Amino acid sequence: HAKSLGKNNCQFYSMELNQVVHQHLLLEASLSRAIGNHEMVLGYQPKVDLRTGKVVGAEALVRWHHPINGVVAPDQFIPVAEESGLIVPLGEWVILEACGALKALEALGIEDFVISVNLSARQLRQRQFASQLARTLAHAGVNPRNLELEVTESQLMDHPEEAMEALAELKALGVRLSIDDFGTGYSSLSYLQKFPVDFIKIDRSFLGDVAEHGHTVIARAIIALGHNLQMKVIAEGVETREQLAFLREHDCDQMQGYYFSPALSQASLEELLCRDARLPG
Ligand code: C2E
Ligand code: MG
Ligand code: MG
Ligand code: MG
Repeated sequence: HAKSLGKNNCQFYSMELNQVVHQHLLLEASLSRAIGNHEMVLGYQPKVDLRTGKVVGAEALVRWHHPINGVVAPDQFIPVAEESGLIVPLGEWVILEACGALKALEALGIEDFVISVNLSARQLRQRQFASQLARTLAHAGVNPRNLELEVTESQLMDHPEEAMEALAELKALGVRLSIDDFGTGYSSLSYLQKFPVDFIKIDRSFLGDVAEHGHTVIARAIIALGHNLQMKVIAEGVETREQLAFLREHDCDQMQGYYFSPALSQASLEELLCRDARLPG
């Protein structure tokens, strides 16, 4: 009996596995069509300066408006895009689109605004990435200092030597660099010190502790670490007044999160900036 059960289980699993592989291939095929079909859309989540309350930038977050499945979140397809290599054309599209948004803001008289895009290690590893980015920026007429590139701590620390070289090349272009989801990876502090980055982003999981326990030792330590390394610190995923008060009290530089705003359409971002919306108090 046990033996036949085992056998059935085995069949069951291999069927499941087949389905997973099949789903994956379907996803990959529709993903590769999605960019050309204009199914990808960027949302822009405002970033606020904690001292002035002013909106100083926005993070571009990709959404897939699938004709049948509706809006698909990046967690559902970025991993597939990374595995298949489709992240490279997708990432190029994201940068072009962000450049377009920067030009549109400039036309409205909004300057010194920084848009950040998320970068996968796979893009960073491309030999021609920095020179191609330089061409893209020049062609779009965008000042490199208005573009920021976010790479997660874990992706940077996977191959820190190579990452450092790639970051140095990008830094030389004049773009801004930030380490995303900081505190969740395993950082080598000696590398951290050598990375030419402008911002550390405190992973939102640490702010959850403020909601639960009223404080977070980790977030405080990250703010101090960042400042000691001459970096600015931004908190992501800020949802409550308590979290905001905590960040202000501990001298964090910027914040983004639902407390102020979710990701907005380009039109809504423009509207927000034109009426000079501020974070209260
Ligand atoms: P991330 O870069 O850490 O982005 C922050 C995520 O937190 C976003 O989810 C954002 O919508 C969400 N978020 C913002 N404020 C709050 C808040 O107050 N509370 C909560 N609970 N969540 C908040 P999203 O848009 O689903 O993106 C997830 C991840 O997908 C991003 O994490 C990023 O790693 C990746 N991603 C998004 N767009 C791109 C892209 O264009 N290229 C690449 N390579 N990755 C991307
Ligand atoms: Mg990010
Ligand atoms: Mg993050
Ligand atoms: Mg993340």
